[in-house]
Amino acid sequence: MNSFPDEDLPFDAKMLDRLAEVSIRVGLNLQEGQDLIITAPVESLPLVRRLSAEAYKSGAGVVSTILSDDLLTLTRYNHAPDESLDAAPSWMFNGMAEAFDNNTARLAVSAANPLLLADQDPARVARAGKSMSLASKPAMERITNFVTNWNIISYPGAAWAKQVFPDLDERDAVSALAEAIFSISRVDNSDPIAAWGEHQKTLTERQDWLNEMSFHSLRYTAPGTDLTIGLAEGHEWKGGASTAKNGITCTPNIPTEEVFTTPHSQRVNGTVRATKPLVYRGTLIDGIEVEFENGTIVRARADVGEEVFLNLIDTDEGARRLGEVALVPHSSPISESGLLFYNTLYDENASCHIALGQCYSKCFKGEIGNDPDKVREAGGNSSNIHVDWMIGSDRLDIDGISEDGKITPIMRNGEWAYD
Ligand code: ZN
Ligand code: ZN
Repeated sequence: MNSFPDEDLPFDAKMLDRLAEVSIRVGLNLQEGQDLIITAPVESLPLVRRLSAEAYKSGAGVVSTILSDDLLTLTRYNHAPDESLDAAPSWMFNGMAEAFDNNTARLAVSAANPLLLADQDPARVARAGKSMSLASKPAMERITNFVTNWNIISYPGAAWAKQVFPDLDERDAVSALAEAIFSISRVDNSDPIAAWGEHQKTLTERQDWLNEMSFHSLRYTAPGTDLTIGLAEGHEWKGGASTAKNGITCTPNIPTEEVFTTPHSQRVNGTVRATKPLVYRGTLIDGIEVEFENGTIVRARADVGEEVFLNLIDTDEGARRLGEVALVPHSSPISESGLLFYNTLYDENASCHIALGQCYSKCFKGEIGNDPDKVREAGGNSSNIHVDWMIGSDRLDIDGISEDGKITPIMRNGEWAYD
């Protein structure tokens, strides 16, 4: 795996400056005096150095960076005995949880090889994944409960680029992936901050309409799909920026094209077929088809990676239930790019999607989200996993069904149907 020195990057380094600016100012909205934890692959250091500089320019307290490396990750799978895969560094996640409780912001850079673990034994991958999920729960819970402002962005890693552009040589692949990332993240123009302001306006309009309609459930129809998803009581649609419990309004995902809310964990019925592959913990899962009864998956299959998918939904009781429903028009810039990114941050924003597992407590009106018992009573799901997969296409229709049975078109052929 090569990485390029700053002066020899196969793309315009100025774009990294802009990406760092968007991440710190729009993504995190980092406040003066706030500490920051960055997790990032070693390969993304040209971006991480800029992020750190931009953070300190914004008045950050202490910026702590935790680096990872694909080859280091593989050493464990290649050499560690089976039993040792039950261990995970909980001290690190407990420390992160403590930092988040003390107003530390969280930034993740995603660049790793999405299929790093594809050739590993699925049982070992599942075993290590499960202990990692358990250990990381204290930190992950703070993020899903939106205790602090957080952001995730991407860097064009070489192995990832080769996955997206298998026919190009490494340097051209990185250059092509970089171009896609910069365009989709809206930094390929002279005023990215203003571009994000415009984009936010559109997302806000959509979320306001859905909140006004306050649908009881959504009905999805497409080839292989006839699914009714009940929405949680007191659910609230969100999109783009929202305010964390520490009072800071941030834009967690860059890019983001979705408006999303919390489904009712007991009121999902029917069948649904995935429209894009899903990459989960380094393994490709393709051709997912599941059937829900009263909120839980009663039948599941996949063309590729079925064992990994079946292991995933057996993680815990909540892993068979939905925790998120998200609407994205088929004409989103990511979908228009025609690329499969093998990276959920990108692929989920190309398409309408649902997520199995933990719900977002921020997607509730009023005080519900502050009380786990109230979230559960309202229908919010709880699990150690949160895994998004794509069900949108240009053949997907979605209707909103009101409490009194009234039907309102939301999407037709994958595009917004309301005016
Ligand atoms: Zn989503
Ligand atoms: Zn999600």
